[in-house]
Amino acid sequence: MNFIVLTIFPEMFNPFWDHGIVHRGISCNKISASTINIRDFGKGRHRVTDDRPYGGGCGMVMKPEPLAGAIREAQKKTPFSKTICLTPQGRVFNQRIAREFAALEGLVLVCGRYEGMDERILHDFIDYEISIGDYILTGGEIAAMVVIDAVTRLIPGILGGADSAEKDSFSDDLLEHAHFTRPRTFEGEAVPEVLLSGNHREIEKWRVETALIRTFLKRQDLLEKRVLSNQEIEILKKWCRDIETIVQAQSLRGADTLSGG
Ligand code: SAM
Repeated sequence: MNFIVLTIFPEMFNPFWDHGIVHRGISCNKISASTINIRDFGKGRHRVTDDRPYGGGCGMVMKPEPLAGAIREAQKKTPFSKTICLTPQGRVFNQRIAREFAALEGLVLVCGRYEGMDERILHDFIDYEISIGDYILTGGEIAAMVVIDAVTRLIPGILGGADSAEKDSFSDDLLEHAHFTRPRTFEGEAVPEVLLSGNHREIEKWRVETALIRTFLKRQDLLEKRVLSNQEIEILKKWCRDIETIVQAQSLRGADTLSGG
C-alpha cells in the first residue's frame, strides 16, 4: 500500500511516519508513505497556493493549479492509487471504508486548508471525498493521519496478533469486549474471576457476552445492524428472561406492600 499525502505542511508528517503502526508498516515494507508539498506547484516567488473567493466573502480558497500539479505528480508515482480529498462534506469515515481502502494499491490523500479547495478539483481529480466526523478541523492533515492509521492496521501482517484487527470494535457491528491486565485487584476492583480460570470456553463466552452488553448499552444502533449469531440470540433471550423475572418480582413486591400496608 502506498500513501502519498498532499499538503502545504509536509513537516507535520515526519513524527507520524516515525512512530507506532505506521512506522512498523514502513519498516517491514508493507506500506510506503511520503508527502508532496502542494506549495512546490505554486507560481511566483512566494509559491502562492490560495486566493480570495470569487463572489466575495471571508477566508481564502486553495487555488486549483497547485493542487492539480501536486495530484498529477502523485498519480504519476502511483498510477493505480485512488485519490481522496479530506473534507467535512465527504462520506463519514468508518471501519467499513477503512477495509475498502486497505484492499487498494494506494491512496493519495489531499489535505485542504483555509475555506477548502476550488470546487473544480473535486469535480475532476478526486475519487472519494472523506470526512472524519461532523466537526470542522483547521486542515486535512490530522484527518489524513486518521485514515492512514486506520487503514494501515488492516493490512495483513502489520499488527502483532494474527487476528487482532478482526476482533477490534466495529469489525462486525460490535464493540470489542472489556480488557483487563495486572494487577489482579486495582483500587478495590478485582478482575472478573472467569478470566483467571484458565477455562478458554468460559472466557470466550464471557467475551461474547461483554461485547454484546457494551454494544447494547453504548451503541444500540450497531446492534440493530448486526446479523446476530445463534449464541448471541440465546444470550439476548436470556437477558430478556432475567429482566422479566426482576420486573415480575418487583411488581409482586409492590402488590405485597400495597396489600400488606
Ligand atoms: N469551509 C469548509 C466547510 O465548511 O466545509 C471547511 C474548511 S476547513 C476549515 C479546512 C480544511 O480542513 C478542509 O478543506 C478539509 O481538508 C479539512 N477538514 C476540516 N474538517 C474536516 C473533517 N471533519 N474531515 C476531514 N477533513 C476536514
